[in-house]
Amino acid sequence: MSIAASVPSAAPRILILGGTSDASDLAAKLACSGVTVISSLAGRVAQPRLPIGIVRVGGFGGVDGLVQYIAAEKIDAVIDVTHPFARRISCNAELACAAASVPLIAFERPQWERLPGDLWTNVPCVEAAAVLADQEDKRVLLSIGRQELSAFASCQRAWFLVRAIDPPDVILPCNCELVLQRGPFDLAAEVQMLRARSINLIVSKNSGGSATYPKIEAARDLGIPVLMIERPHKHSAQTFTSLEDVLRELKQLFSGPWF
Ligand code: NAP
Repeated sequence: MSIAASVPSAAPRILILGGTSDASDLAAKLACSGVTVISSLAGRVAQPRLPIGIVRVGGFGGVDGLVQYIAAEKIDAVIDVTHPFARRISCNAELACAAASVPLIAFERPQWERLPGDLWTNVPCVEAAAVLADQEDKRVLLSIGRQELSAFASCQRAWFLVRAIDPPDVILPCNCELVLQRGPFDLAAEVQMLRARSINLIVSKNSGGSATYPKIEAARDLGIPVLMIERPHKHSAQTFTSLEDVLRELKQLFSGPWF
């Protein structure tokens, strides 16, 4: 359901649901406009890269909490620029915006597409990837963030190089090495890392974007198979795939001297 914005007499107040580089890019693009932007982060990363402008951190307390926040902060529109795998907050945003009668603009960065030379097996979820990855001869780069690593906790046979930004607070597979690193990553360094650790399988989410794509390019160059976890379906509403389209939509909603 799409909701028309009521034209505000003061500068529109925009809530960006973020936690992604796209959300930071959008906040930066809006920094010189006349709108007030509040970027929201979940607070998962200990030392996040903060977007420009006003930032709030932490969950809202479900749909009701988000509805209350929208009312208390007099939010005129919400832009969901969360990660393609952050499903719950997107669902909450749809319900809260409908309840609060404010428009929701949904953005999802394009997913990666298989290119010639890619050896991908698409899998529907992290649990399926864990079953397929746990084979004796496998040396696996596990690069899915830290929240869903518990799906691999019972893996006994494969060896894992677990890469995350912060130390995971879940049980890791018994045969593993943990490396704490934050993207963006570089193709030459990824090739070197895969060779040095004799990696012969990669588990990745189909996150899209450029920051973590070098591991996929490196896999293609080295002929390493990838278990590619498919994205969940996030929005029932129209979803934009470029920030330019998001800005165009915002300008249509709030015509006036704001942009
Ligand atoms: P999720 O499962 O969709 O959300 C879980 C809960 O975290 C939400 O119900 C909400 O709590 C809170 N939350 C999530 N995003 C929020 C935001 N931007 N601002 C305020 N609260 C937020 O999300 P997730 O997968 O845990 O991801 C958390 C954050 O990390 C997201 O902002 C996402 O963009 C970013 N991220 C996720 C991934 C990934 O692979 N999942 C990768 C990179 C970045 P309440 O119900 O209390 O409001």
